[in-house]
Amino acid sequence: MSKIKCTVLECAYNKNVMCHAPMIQVNHNGVKHSSGSRETQCETFKPKGL
Ligand code: SF4
Repeated sequence: MSKIKCTVLECAYNKNVMCHAPMIQVNHNGVKHSSGSRETQCETFKPKGL
């Protein structure tokens, strides 16, 4: 898998500002067609400690 840098440190898959999930899913964020990165979101996010 590609290296994914991620600053969401609250995610259980985040180690040293890098994503360590075996795969991630990214979806539209409340829109049908994204026109910028703000309109995407990581669905694989899992809060630490759960
Ligand atoms: S799963 Fe998503 S939110 Fe969590 S570290 Fe990876 S890219 Fe970031």
